[in-house]
Amino acid sequence: MPELPEVETVRRGLASHLNSFVIQQVEILRERAVASPGGVNAFCNGLRGQSVGEWTRRGKYLMASLHQQGTHRTSGVWGVHLRMTGQFQWHDEPSDPCKHTRARFWNEQGQELRFVDMRSFGEMWWVPSGTPIDSVITGLKRLGPEPFSDAFSASYLQRELKGSTRSIKAALLDQSLVAGTGNIYADESLFVAGIAPHTPAGRLSRQQLEKLRDSLVHVLEISIGVGGTTFSDFRDLEGVNGNYGGQAAVYRRTGKDCLTCGTPIERMKLAGRSTHWCPTCQS
Ligand code: ZN
Repeated sequence: MPELPEVETVRRGLASHLNSFVIQQVEILRERAVASPGGVNAFCNGLRGQSVGEWTRRGKYLMASLHQQGTHRTSGVWGVHLRMTGQFQWHDEPSDPCKHTRARFWNEQGQELRFVDMRSFGEMWWVPSGTPIDSVITGLKRLGPEPFSDAFSASYLQRELKGSTRSIKAALLDQSLVAGTGNIYADESLFVAGIAPHTPAGRLSRQQLEKLRDSLVHVLEISIGVGGTTFSDFRDLEGVNGNYGGQAAVYRRTGKDCLTCGTPIERMKLAGRSTHWCPTCQS
């Protein structure tokens, strides 16, 4: 599943490819890809003829501002969540869509942005101008702070996790604690911070929380720098895999030597997810 670095990589790809893209034509091949009120019709009418402005990311949500062609007047917002397997493809030349194609967007020059989603959990929204975005994309209301924001501080973690008996791994996966973190970067940041993933979140010291915050920001920054991860089915708009997999310290390295101390990396289930850790380096 794409996590923050992968979604950020997609955001950058969309921002560069769709710079001055005017949506001439929209085709939705599967109705459930559109999650906003009014369904496919409202979505297509809302996007058609609009030029695509700035792309922003909040957690794992992507949003583009839409403008009436030839003006700077905002006409609405186009929201996207890739969920499990959603991906965008850029096609300069006409080509036949694969069977997992869910939505197609063309400009006047015939270039196409294609949304492909094998598992079909991905969602898109159209939010008309003047409507609060989180009243349509309701998942936004439940998101905690962005990891790169000032709000995501050790004090914040201390306050939120006070008395918590759930594991720190489970806490990191909770999007209402911090937006955008999933299994890979939770495991990696706990390794860098030297914290055992099953530690009750409320037992971490202020110093450990500071280290954890810094470690999470650090691994996310590295992964964004290499275009996301090689794991799962993630591809950027050009069909290229990221390269974070080659740098993972613990994730999917069960039984292999810890890069720091040589102890075999162990795996356990926490919060229903495979968790990878070094029992020597993390305590
Ligand atoms: Zn180790």
